[in-house]
Amino acid sequence: MKPIFALATVSMALALAPASWSASFGPRFYGDPPDANHPWAVHDGNRPQPRVVTPGTFSTQEQAGKPPADAIILFDGTDLSKWEGSKGAPAKWEVKDGYMQVVPGTGEIRSKEAFGDCQLHVEWAAPSVVKGDSQGRGNSGIFLMGMLEVQVLDCYNNPTYADGTAGGYYGVNPPLVNAVRPPGQFQVYDIVFRRPIYKDGKVLDPGYVTVFVNGILVQDHTPLEGSGGHMGRSKVGPFPEKGAMRLQDHNNTTRFRNIWYRPLPPRMSEGGTDGFLAPEVAQAKRKEIAATVRANATKLANPANPVPQLLDLLESLVYEADAATVQQVEKMTADYLAAVRQLPAEKVAGKKNDTRELANAFKYLTRFKILPADCAAKAGVDKLIVEQGWADKKK
Ligand code: MG
Repeated sequence: MKPIFALATVSMALALAPASWSASFGPRFYGDPPDANHPWAVHDGNRPQPRVVTPGTFSTQEQAGKPPADAIILFDGTDLSKWEGSKGAPAKWEVKDGYMQVVPGTGEIRSKEAFGDCQLHVEWAAPSVVKGDSQGRGNSGIFLMGMLEVQVLDCYNNPTYADGTAGGYYGVNPPLVNAVRPPGQFQVYDIVFRRPIYKDGKVLDPGYVTVFVNGILVQDHTPLEGSGGHMGRSKVGPFPEKGAMRLQDHNNTTRFRNIWYRPLPPRMSEGGTDGFLAPEVAQAKRKEIAATVRANATKLANPANPVPQLLDLLESLVYEADAATVQQVEKMTADYLAAVRQLPAEKVAGKKNDTRELANAFKYLTRFKILPADCAAKAGVDKLIVEQGWADKKK
């Protein structure tokens, strides 16, 4: 049964595919065209393909999972080569059995590498022998860019002030829930961090922190209010571009394993190149795409078969209304129509699909007012289709 079903699925997909596909896989003359904030059409074949990333694996209590293929690994369980003490001294924490452990009194450690916006993965375990209470039990912390602390604390049956709970943005925002496992077990933190962006003293983006503790959302895109801290009310303000990540020595033998991050692409407010873009950025991108499509059209030039070049030129108009291209399109279309009319009757039928593709492109461009409704080239193509009886049959 399966092969037949698969075949049916493929032919259905083909039936649903739009008439015109561009060289870069995807439809053209199809979804809503680019606009002031979107340099690409909806379902645009020219929009860059998402990069392929091979996923990692999940951790178990016994074994750390594998990071995704593009992750920058800060600790893989073997050594502290990516870490140093404060002021660049050697990191003095202990490494054994696939984890690192705080050696109380040796001080915090920090990543040698400085980084900013990221997806960060950290696993930690509080000592299995419970000692102390409140902030004194299994306390450590993850300082993003060395600034705000995402709290690490044994909060299993251990009440403390809410904004100091595990998964809390220390001193600023408690976690939505307390999602920790018992002490001795590894806890998994997944963090998405966006630093604040300021320009000329004005905030363009406050920055955000999102945290999952053991797969449970505890910081939901929480706006940043500065670096937080102990007792003092934190103040909003700019961050540097990058900073070392710090892990806290709070006199408890907390363990860490499987630490990695993935840098995040720039946001719109700092020159991002996809998503909802600033008008000047979208405009520049549209010009760039139009130039690429026109360059490709030039490569397709072929007097015996002008339609592929013509379709690319029409496609370029979707991104940029270029007067010289409009003229070229009008001339090439007139030449094409004249050439088809001169063909012997038995060869005219061979031009049906090409002509219908052109008609579809013109229909799209006039529908979205990229070309005027009374465009002569469109009228010429439509006339040929009617004369030859190539129009879709009315149902
Ligand atoms: Mg702490």
